[in-house]
Amino acid sequence: MGGKSSVRPSLARVSLFAATWHVSVWGGWALVALAAVKVQPLMGLMPAAFWVIAALVLLGELRPVRTAGSYDSEGTVTSTAFVFAILYLWGLWPALLLQAVVTVTSELVKRKRPWIIFFNVGQYVLSVTAAWSALVLVGLPDGIVAAGRDLTGSDLFWIVPSWVIWFVVNDALVAGVGADVGHTFVEALFGDIFFYIVTSAAVLALSPLVVFAAQASGWYVPLLLIPMFAVHKTARISLQEQHKALHDPLTGLPNRKYLLRSLGDAVAQLDSPAFALALLDLDRFKEVNDTLGHHVGDRLLELVAIRISSVLRPEDLVARLGGDEFAIYLPHVSNARAAADVAVRIRQALNEPFQLEDVLLELEVSIGIAVFPDHGRDVDNLMRRADVAMYLAKELHTEVEVYDPARDRHTTGRLGLLASLRRALDAGELDLHYQPKVALEGGGVVGVEALIRWNHPERGFIPPDEFIPLAETSGLMHRLTSYVINTALAQVAAWRDEGFLVAVAVNVSARDLHGAELARTVSEALARHRVPATLLKLELTERTLMAEHSRVLDTLVALEALDVELSLDDFGTGYSSMFMLKRLPVSEIKVDQSFVSRLTRDGEDASIVRSIIDLAHGLGLQAVAEGVETEEVWNQLVGLGCDSAQGWFVSRPMPSAAATEWLRGHFSESDHASSRADDTGDLPVVRPEGEAVALTPLHLVAESGT
Ligand code: C2E
Ligand code: CA
Ligand code: CA
Repeated sequence: MGGKSSVRPSLARVSLFAATWHVSVWGGWALVALAAVKVQPLMGLMPAAFWVIAALVLLGELRPVRTAGSYDSEGTVTSTAFVFAILYLWGLWPALLLQAVVTVTSELVKRKRPWIIFFNVGQYVLSVTAAWSALVLVGLPDGIVAAGRDLTGSDLFWIVPSWVIWFVVNDALVAGVGADVGHTFVEALFGDIFFYIVTSAAVLALSPLVVFAAQASGWYVPLLLIPMFAVHKTARISLQEQHKALHDPLTGLPNRKYLLRSLGDAVAQLDSPAFALALLDLDRFKEVNDTLGHHVGDRLLELVAIRISSVLRPEDLVARLGGDEFAIYLPHVSNARAAADVAVRIRQALNEPFQLEDVLLELEVSIGIAVFPDHGRDVDNLMRRADVAMYLAKELHTEVEVYDPARDRHTTGRLGLLASLRRALDAGELDLHYQPKVALEGGGVVGVEALIRWNHPERGFIPPDEFIPLAETSGLMHRLTSYVINTALAQVAAWRDEGFLVAVAVNVSARDLHGAELARTVSEALARHRVPATLLKLELTERTLMAEHSRVLDTLVALEALDVELSLDDFGTGYSSMFMLKRLPVSEIKVDQSFVSRLTRDGEDASIVRSIIDLAHGLGLQAVAEGVETEEVWNQLVGLGCDSAQGWFVSRPMPSAAATEWLRGHFSESDHASSRADDTGDLPVVRPEGEAVALTPLHLVAESGT
């Protein structure tokens, strides 16, 4: 009984195979009935050895070795050896009857469904009968006991082929039903065939030994169970190894290899039916890992796996592709609408908050869907297009998107750009330009702002506004910012060695503020280039800051502890409350260039700029005007009491060498200015940001907060 008894016959679709199968199984039952009639008069005459063997068959069926896998043939295989032994010793009818009784009993105990029991009895009876027919055809007796002889070595010559017949009949019958429940006949025929050949051969090879033992004394027979269990155990271990190679150890879900194999099978079929593939990515999972630790991240992934599976049907396949990426193969979902419905169900299941340790986590997901064959006829294309759709869902914050060729060109272009940005980072294609920021009173250098530049080998100059948002939606942002910080600080160190103490301002984006990475990058970079924290400023936009987030606040507090100051960029375009401004470790406000550039034309803009400057001063912050393009604007800013200015009027952003040249000129000029200032007892005009640190509101806020 080493056959696959876990098949689930379905009568919904009656194929030719299934029809044949159904008829055969009824034939098997007819044989059982016949056996009952034939064996009945013999029962009282059966010797002790028969009953010992019969008891072992039943025991083997009822007390299988415990298993974790889905193969339920454990234990049942051992009984095959005994059924065959009875076949050789006492002939067909006792063997068939025993087989039927044992199958029905054990499967009732295992609470198998009636149809399965019915089919399995028929199947086993037929395969034993087929084996027996082969033996009788070549002239072996129907039971050597009745023939009054022993089993001999030469009998083996025919016995071995009969096992092969038994195996083939069994497998073919199961495959017939397998073909009816969604597999091809060939797939079902060869599925796990290696496992079944090994275990069946091991068990069947024992059957002559059972006969020899029984001929000596029935009491030797139970000893044969021991090697049988050992063999079975070994085969199981090899199966488990195979399982490991195809599954994700954390969630227990199938892995990428498994998924690709299943999809490969699905598209390789002739006339493959339509199916859907969904790729799912957790938004901001990295933050969870960074802020709460890997064990929480892992636990979250396990829970996600469970939730996804819970809203799917048993035939659907969820795989974990690695990291926070999952894939769902929906074999019976044939159109995009139905697939989107499933995706929405998954999304809803994952949107429910997760309770992990003491925190309640809310997850957002992005799901991209591609349908076979509409969106791709091979696995590569399907995966890629589902990925494009997922990327779009992430970018548009729509959570679920179905692949749309009309939008693909754009998206592919951006994906391509993202890929080349990654390459550019590795290849050092990115460069920093520096734009000076000078004091409106006296014109001394207050610092420089580092602005990233990308000269694409084919596409030429790509403005940061185009690729920064792209990097933000991918995992690339941290690497980019780390590159900018390190390059800028190396430059500051070089300038310091030349005798210029210049503070550099680096732009950071919202994504940088999630998680502990930025603070770590900053402190490592400061140490590496031996630059004091007071020579580094981080610029972040008002919008970024005001999306109040406890984790963002954590980062800001960590930066404050490092003595790094913050500058509020594009001020006036977002919404900030006075309260937030007071609470955050900000030392400077940059008036957005849209107001500055219209300063001379528009009275209303002038009053906005004036209010911002007053607000900054009221809070003890520096006010910087950006985008100062003309002398007129410059003069007006002086009148408004603005502290410093940045813009084309002062200088365009310059590559490193030009910036160094510019600073050289400026410093020698301001050296005079500074000595003059000293003479009059004024503040030195050249005032590297760091020296003013004790006066910044950041420290006042910190003090009042303690
Ligand atoms: P931003 O931080 O507001 O930078 C100022 C932008 O104004 C720069 O554009 C600069 O070249 C430009 N600019 C400077 N003076 C003038 C002027 O007088 N008139 C006009 N019309 N424009 C002026 P850029 O370099 O194209 O950068 C655009 C934005 O990209 C930046 O805006 C910043 O938000 C972002 N960015 C640039 N470099 C980085 C970086 O390394 N990291 C991050 N996260 N963002 C960056
Ligand atoms: Ca900026
Ligand atoms: Ca700005």
